[in-house]
Amino acid sequence: MVMAEGGDETKLTRRALLTSTGAIAAGAAVAGCEYKTQLYLLSDAPETDRKLASWGDSKVVGHRPLGRTGFEMSDISFGTSKLQDPAVVQRAIERGINYFDTSPDYSDEASEKALGQGIKGTPRDQIFIASKFCSSEGHLDDDTPVPEVMRAVEGSLRRLQVDHLDLVHIHAVNSVERLMSPNLHEAFDRLKEQGKVRFLGVSSHTPRLEEVMGRAVGSDRFDVIMVAYNFKNWPQLHDIFHEAHQRGVGVVAMKTLKGAYHTQLADFAPSERESFAQAAFKWVLANPDVSGLVVTISHFPQIDEYLYASGQEITKQDVALLEKYDQQVAKIYCRPGCGECLESCPADVPIDDVLRYRMYAESYGQERDAMRSYAKVDPQRTADNCATCPAPCEPACPFEIPIRERLVEAHRLLRFG
Ligand code: SF4
Ligand code: SF4
Repeated sequence: MVMAEGGDETKLTRRALLTSTGAIAAGAAVAGCEYKTQLYLLSDAPETDRKLASWGDSKVVGHRPLGRTGFEMSDISFGTSKLQDPAVVQRAIERGINYFDTSPDYSDEASEKALGQGIKGTPRDQIFIASKFCSSEGHLDDDTPVPEVMRAVEGSLRRLQVDHLDLVHIHAVNSVERLMSPNLHEAFDRLKEQGKVRFLGVSSHTPRLEEVMGRAVGSDRFDVIMVAYNFKNWPQLHDIFHEAHQRGVGVVAMKTLKGAYHTQLADFAPSERESFAQAAFKWVLANPDVSGLVVTISHFPQIDEYLYASGQEITKQDVALLEKYDQQVAKIYCRPGCGECLESCPADVPIDDVLRYRMYAESYGQERDAMRSYAKVDPQRTADNCATCPAPCEPACPFEIPIRERLVEAHRLLRFG
């Protein structure tokens, strides 16, 4: 997968891909942010409204070892956060996808049920199912009693109609304390003894990523890490991924589309909009320490589009497109795991959450979900506060996002009535 020096001049070396002053600057800024929410784990990928004929019946052509699990996962794999139709799963399996990431809180348990129906008839050892220590209401707390954690996993097994999960993640880990929660680890050990789970994973995009993931990789407790990873974000992850690879820990990338604003960038030509996801995937997969990536799939055309990038090498044109995208979204994209501005808001508006809801609505076509999420914000803390505020939050943002303006508009877009 890594391109050789001196090869096709449109292709790039690993060094060229992974070194960038912009990347380092952005990463340094993000690393100083305080992590406050887990909502970035909820986002998924948009649909494209056009399908190029060349995408045809795209198939998975790249498989990579998932660390010590012994499984060869499809390089582009299936996230189920919006899954409703089991037939989409069946199509994905036909096209070679063999790794499925789900959770009880995806679509209020409906995703696990649809996945369970979709995998019927496929030999269990040919697919790899990852779920989370979650209930339909969300992540289980660190101190959730062990029997309750075990019951939550048994609920996943019932909905999926399988007798075991291949992988269960401690989800949305933002501290070493949560990472090493005695209750969650004891529940995993008991479930493993009972043959109900095989491997333990951790998912996170906290600003404490180095600390959390470094500890996870070095602990020998975790078989897989799932991490937000996209173009020019989190450059410090490369060393962690390499260490994970050396130790036999699988690395699954998520949030690879960096906000997916490409569908609404007016000066992006149609061909650029259509190939953005493929370029983003190729950049992620150019890192040989990445086992594979997970992207949300809920409709048939996404399978054609996304799998067209499977096994493909990244080109200079791809990187130019990703650079152009970065320039376009620099002052729009609220960085995962940041939160630098939150302390500055006298009204305690959950700025990063609300900007994320706006992104769901505008870029992912999830207006109703975004509005429902916004409706759960404490009425005293909504972006209604912003209209007459002098915006002390804005100097706190290292990325110069015009927070007040974007929140005022978010409030207009997302409120019911
Ligand atoms: S503009 Fe809105 S988010 Fe910023 S400080 Fe004022 S109330 Fe808070
Ligand atoms: S608005 Fe800026 S400072 Fe606030 S969370 Fe987003 S990127 Fe960070």
